[in-house]
Amino acid sequence: MNRYDSIVIGAGHNGLVCAAYLAKAGQKVLVLESGESPGGLAASREFHAGFRAPVAHSVNHFSERISRDLALESHGFKMSEELPRTVGLSRDGKHVVVKKSSVAGVSAKDADAYGDFYRLMHRFAETLQPFWLKTIPRVTLGSMADLVTFGHLGLKLRLMGRADLREFMRIAALPARDLMDEYFDSDLLKSILCWDALIGSKMAPRSPNHAVLPMLYRMAGEHRGNPGSLIAALQASASASGVEIRTGAAVARILVHADQDGLAARGVELVDGDSIEADRVVSSADPHTTFFRLAGIENLEIEFTNRIRRLRCEGYVAKLHLALDALPEFTGLDQPGGRLLIAPHMDAIEFAFDDAKYGAVSTQPVMEVVIPSLHDESLAPPGQHVLSANVMYVPYGLKSGWDDAAREALRDLAIDAIAPYAPGIRQQILHAELLTPADIERAYNVTGGHWHHTEFALDQSLMMRPTYEAAQYRTPLPNLWLCGAGSHPGGDLTGAPGHNAARAILK
Ligand SMILES: Cc1cc2nc3c(=O)[nH]c(=O)nc-3n(C[C@H](O)[C@H](O)[C@H](O)COP(=O)(O)OP(=O)(O)OC[C@H]3O[C@@H](n4cnc5c(N)ncnc54)[C@H](O)[C@@H]3O)c2cc1C
Repeated sequence: MNRYDSIVIGAGHNGLVCAAYLAKAGQKVLVLESGESPGGLAASREFHAGFRAPVAHSVNHFSERISRDLALESHGFKMSEELPRTVGLSRDGKHVVVKKSSVAGVSAKDADAYGDFYRLMHRFAETLQPFWLKTIPRVTLGSMADLVTFGHLGLKLRLMGRADLREFMRIAALPARDLMDEYFDSDLLKSILCWDALIGSKMAPRSPNHAVLPMLYRMAGEHRGNPGSLIAALQASASASGVEIRTGAAVARILVHADQDGLAARGVELVDGDSIEADRVVSSADPHTTFFRLAGIENLEIEFTNRIRRLRCEGYVAKLHLALDALPEFTGLDQPGGRLLIAPHMDAIEFAFDDAKYGAVSTQPVMEVVIPSLHDESLAPPGQHVLSANVMYVPYGLKSGWDDAAREALRDLAIDAIAPYAPGIRQQILHAELLTPADIERAYNVTGGHWHHTEFALDQSLMMRPTYEAAQYRTPLPNLWLCGAGSHPGGDLTGAPGHNAARAILK
């Protein structure tokens, strides 16, 4: 029988990163992907004849180190030359435009305040950046390496200087709204700056917890590009290191063997009945899928399975795809490049969240719009375009239940929300598709259709992600490891969980 050192479940970007590192270190690695092509949520899929789009429509902070280690540029990862802008759309065309340290469309007072805000946040982001690519040790330190990691974190925080450290401690758990109100007057500026603290989470501007952590996470790293070229480069890099990737190969269960030392993972059984053995199984599937569907609760401690059961995995982001017969025109913009946000003020975000909290869809959804075909011509026929929007907040568990009518109503609401900013857009639509979180769950094998596989919140972060017992990528079932977005540091297209898992395995 063909035996492997490691079987990686899932060819999402984290599964590919992990597999590539393991193979580069000399392991014989097999990646098994249930979908027809690699990429997970970043894989492009045809949604209308000739029109393709990935669910994750932009790469904003992929790790520079991983890109270098895996030679992704030479394998075809096209990084964008310049930082894309974020545009807060205004119906009258007087938009607020943010690009790196500069902002346009606001008062001189807000522009100055933005400079201060940007510099402070970037100092914090740089301090935290090294820790996204590290295994965060348990509180009861196990080894010298654990001590060094905590010592390094302590030193980095100390080096911030007293004033910055105090400010960091003060704002770390501040609701996004309070932080924005402290700095700015412009409603539009406040709402676009708090977007990165909220997108993908069950949180709105007034939610307590942590606005700052996700914001700093997203400010770390400058590697931007399109998801299509990232996935193709990861696939090429992994294959060049000897990784075998099988698509259309869904894992039905993780094989567990029992001997006098107890239970341990020893391979997988595929849906088609084939069994494949390996020294270890590394899962990039979300924690619910990994432990409940694949490993089986009969092979785990009850206390551990209870913690996994309590993880918050219900997604709140829906995806709108439009196939357009031409490039859409937005009032006041010469071209629709960058990230266009429809969220006129923080209360608009909050009200959309209020509806979703009680299982309803807001009549006024807020959203992030991009035109991915501007940077990836393979997504649409020549001269035609794809519009992709992350629509918030859309509950996974709609109280009245998701059916075609509910899905179509939301699709129409989302188009209604875009039309005032791009008046000619309705006439350009050849086809419209809306994926609810429940649709994303089904199509992409992600519990709850959750952006981060499980909520990205303080109680599910760092050495508690996904739970205390499985936060160092090793799980309570020997030879079973995690390497997906449900592990530290979390979701987005960063490659960090895949990298950290490989390092922990190779230690
Ligand atoms: C609507 C939406 C929009 C998003 N937009 C962005 C964005 O613009 N930018 C960004 O950075 N992030 C975005 N994200 C988040 C990002 O897509 C995820 O955090 C990221 O893709 C997680 O990567 P991963 O490799 O850990 O997991 P995934 O991408 O989920 O990959 C896991 C893989 O495992 C496979 N799998 C699962 N179970 C099995 C099994 N039993 N057998 C075999 N294979 C299996 C799945 O098919 C999948 O391919 C978005 C998420 C959502 C939901």
